[in-house]
Amino acid sequence: MEHLTKEEVEELRRTLLRMKEEILKRARENLKTSSSFEGGDEIDRANYQRENFLNLRLLSREAQLLKRIDYMLLKMEEGTYGVCENCGEPIPYKRLKARPVARLCIRCKEEEELNEGQ
Ligand SMILES: [Zn+2]
Repeated sequence: MEHLTKEEVEELRRTLLRMKEEILKRARENLKTSSSFEGGDEIDRANYQRENFLNLRLLSREAQLLKRIDYMLLKMEEGTYGVCENCGEPIPYKRLKARPVARLCIRCKEEEELNEGQ
């Protein structure tokens, strides 16, 4: 990640840590609201269960993002952050700033999406 200055890496690290903090905060709030429902009629309960289900799905998606953030932080420690995992090209700071968890350069990302669509 020689193409990134120390300041840029530091900025990206702060962004990742902030993302992580927000996910953990939301997860805690979700947990609080999802474990204390009593009373209400059948419909209330059905609605509640559906919301709960959505919350859980959201949580698992966020759990994945959380894992990804930790992975990116680890890569920063190792000095392999910001390099495309497919072709080895440096990922421009502009892209990383918009998406700090990016593992691929734009070209490889587009190819991957193309392949997934087939
Ligand atoms: Zn690439």
